[in-house]
Amino acid sequence: MRQAQGETPGQAVTTMPEEPKEEDDWTAYATAGFGQTDYSLWDDVNVEETESTDEEADFDEGDDLDDEMWEEPEQLGTHTEEVPRAPNPAGHKHMVRIGCCDTCLGRLGGKQRYDQSMVESGREIRAAVVERDPHLEGAQERVGLCPFCEDLFDEVDLLADLITEALEGREVARLQVGARFPKDQMEEEDVMRKRYGAGGSDPLKSSLVGFVADAIKTRMDDVRIVTENPEVLAIIDVTTLTVDLDVRSVYLYGRYRKLERGVPQTRWPCRACKGRGCDRCEGTGLQYATSVQQLVADPLREMLGAEDDAFHGMGREDIDVRCLGRGRPFVVELKSPMRRSVDAAAAMDAINDAAAGAVEVTSLRPSSRKEVVRVKDTAAEKSYAIRFRLAPLSEKEHAKLVAPMDLTKEDVQERGGRKRKGRRKRRGDRGAPATKPIPEPEPEVPVVDEATLQAMKKAELVELAKAQDLSVSGTKADLVDRLLAAAPAEAAPMDMADAEEIEQIIQGLQGAMLAQRTPERVAHRRADLVRRRKVLETSEAIVETMDEGHTEVEFTLRCESGTYVKETVHGDGGRTQPSVAALIRARCDVLWLDVADIHAD
Ligand SMILES: [Zn+2]
Ligand SMILES: [Zn+2]
Repeated sequence: MRQAQGETPGQAVTTMPEEPKEEDDWTAYATAGFGQTDYSLWDDVNVEETESTDEEADFDEGDDLDDEMWEEPEQLGTHTEEVPRAPNPAGHKHMVRIGCCDTCLGRLGGKQRYDQSMVESGREIRAAVVERDPHLEGAQERVGLCPFCEDLFDEVDLLADLITEALEGREVARLQVGARFPKDQMEEEDVMRKRYGAGGSDPLKSSLVGFVADAIKTRMDDVRIVTENPEVLAIIDVTTLTVDLDVRSVYLYGRYRKLERGVPQTRWPCRACKGRGCDRCEGTGLQYATSVQQLVADPLREMLGAEDDAFHGMGREDIDVRCLGRGRPFVVELKSPMRRSVDAAAAMDAINDAAAGAVEVTSLRPSSRKEVVRVKDTAAEKSYAIRFRLAPLSEKEHAKLVAPMDLTKEDVQERGGRKRKGRRKRRGDRGAPATKPIPEPEPEVPVVDEATLQAMKKAELVELAKAQDLSVSGTKADLVDRLLAAAPAEAAPMDMADAEEIEQIIQGLQGAMLAQRTPERVAHRRADLVRRRKVLETSEAIVETMDEGHTEVEFTLRCESGTYVKETVHGDGGRTQPSVAALIRARCDVLWLDVADIHAD
């Protein structure tokens, strides 16, 4: 073996004994074309080896070579011959012989000049090879399929046309082109390129993508081909020669004021049919006819020709709560839009006209996916306006409102934006250990009214009478009468605060630290915890005696994000302390609640 003499092992590329699979692969390509000729794949390799030049210094594969091979060099000749990598002329010759296309010859040949295209360089290399070995004229045609690219470069125009057609009518200033290859095709090309191609040759995928991108540039004037942050990503599937478009969403930031009650923030699928459409929802699939999301996004979808939308609010208010003041910040996402440029003023007009006073949008501007996270993670202080009606409260009810709270489940997690960064958990789910439930209050002595007693069996009435040390003789009716007579008189209502005291109490709430156990109304979706929230500010309360004789109170309060405001007023049966109800010794029935302002942005 001449090539072994005086050379370092690294300079010869002979991997047959180690990597039979790879050898099989390209031999298969080669024999597919040469089978009909009497040309031997190997008959001139040895001659070429002598032409090895300094260019072989480019080789970077030598380290992989097993030293043992060089102890028994005679084995080499029996299986294969060394082929130097391009730009060695022997490498060029080998690539031509196995059916390499002009593009791949240029791509892998290591001879492309600055003023040349890849194909031009490939043609030049082929011409040089054929000049030395005329019988290699037409080798590519005889093989039939380029072993490096499987003739994919022939499809560049087709792929560019497919992408251009797919983008027709779609606004796109920044386009990225990508390609999806079968993994084994990528790996095989990688192995062959590193074995025969010049060091630093462009890989198949990036070359193809580059060619298609260039071809698109000649077809579409205003499109910039980018490699990051595209508006549209066109993905070529080389197996099917098809193109998929990944159209990035358009994001818009704004603030909404919700001026009507009974409108949920987001589209709410019908509970009965889960959105498929049924009789109960009149086929709409919606539990509520409209939502802030629909009122805001529908006109935008229309304007942008978007397929779908998503709505991300900085928190949300209950369906029956209005949102006033400067409104609630949100980011609306328009998915797969045909158009991307938005005239914010025109868009706000369109939304506000169509919403007809239910919702009003201000401050609309372009946004981003990143801002969705910011908006969703901002724990903003809010101001609320609340109005409630007073009703008498018994001592027993009052005792419940001020009963000692079990703080074993106090939510001690630190609050505030910084600590929560990157965390997408819902408030209340934070590290909630599902152990040791907060004990329920002692069961009440059952209210003994006549109807309840009449409905009971005699044996039960006897038990009840026994428990109260009453006589158990007589008929069922006698027992009922006796039990009713023994029932404690209706507890006398407490002496509730007067207007002046109410004003003082509400003023005194300023700075109060609330302990709020998860309200029962949200317990199904929030961990049962006791949270601390601060009332930062309260306005002067308005106390009014209504025509019907009862008293109504209205005031505004500013508190930390996550405060349960209705509960702060009515006390939630002692689950929120302190509460307005406990302090003014009256039942407080909330009439309405508004978000008066959101102190953010
Ligand atoms: Zn090729
Ligand atoms: Zn339905």
